[in-house]
Amino acid sequence: MGTYAVTGSASGMGAAVVERLLADGHRVVGVDVKQADVTADLSTPAGRRAASAAVLELAGGVLDGAVLAAGLGPAPGRDRARLIAEVNVLGVVELLDAWRPALAKADRAKVVVFSSNSTTTVPMVPRRVVRALLEGDVERALGTLRLLGRAAPTFAYAASKVAVSHWVRRQAVTREWAGAGIRLNALAPGAIMTPLLEQQLATPAEARRIRAFPVPIGGFGDAGQLAAWVVFMLSDAADFLCGSVVFVDGGSDAWFRATDW
Ligand code: NAD
Repeated sequence: MGTYAVTGSASGMGAAVVERLLADGHRVVGVDVKQADVTADLSTPAGRRAASAAVLELAGGVLDGAVLAAGLGPAPGRDRARLIAEVNVLGVVELLDAWRPALAKADRAKVVVFSSNSTTTVPMVPRRVVRALLEGDVERALGTLRLLGRAAPTFAYAASKVAVSHWVRRQAVTREWAGAGIRLNALAPGAIMTPLLEQQLATPAEARRIRAFPVPIGGFGDAGQLAAWVVFMLSDAADFLCGSVVFVDGGSDAWFRATDW
């Protein structure tokens, strides 16, 4: 049985992952702004430092895996773009950088980062925002996002997920990750019924947009189903999975990319 760090453990898919890991007899160190083993605000540098240190201490310096599910959706709001950049990108990259040595100490550790199918279904995500986020320069990313007015949270969200997916692919194959025996992968869900989606559906215009979005299978995904994918990606069956972005989205990504070639 292993020890796993899970961010976003208090709600939605993170909570569903914790439930499954505990049911399988694993130890979990949950991180969230509320109701967690480690209570920390991942939108601040101090919160991220405190969270990474507390997890390492509680885990005894060895992690068999990590699941990075903490995240904010593209809801409207004045400071939303900043929060999205801080939590969805730096809340992944800085924690994983800090946890990498502990993951390397385990045998074939596995990491699952939550991306999104927004990476391929939102058109014209500004490359300069993605580049700034990959360089950890939130202010520069926000400078471009401000020009987009009310659409800023939508593009901040898509850019945050493009950035973490790219970071996963880029890091996964390096000496520090694959070379240290760590499997680093991402999961890209579509619309999954969690409090994050419920918040978006509460705005009528946003609800109309979400319900009109092409989902070939129809309906919304279920947090428990996505947690099952995460647990699979943490299992021995995923030993040969490295740097992949796995789409579980009812077919939206395929629908948008069907005419790529
Ligand atoms: P959720 O809102 O149910 O859970 C997200 C968790 O992140 C919450 O417990 C919240 O407290 C935590 N969190 C938010 N800000 C934080 C902060 N500053 N510090 C610490 N924790 C913080 O959402 P969910 O739908 O389960 O989302 C999980 C992941 O999946 C997110 O990264 C999200 O972007 C991604 N995702 C969700 C959907 C969807 O439709 N639900 C689709 C694609 C991707």
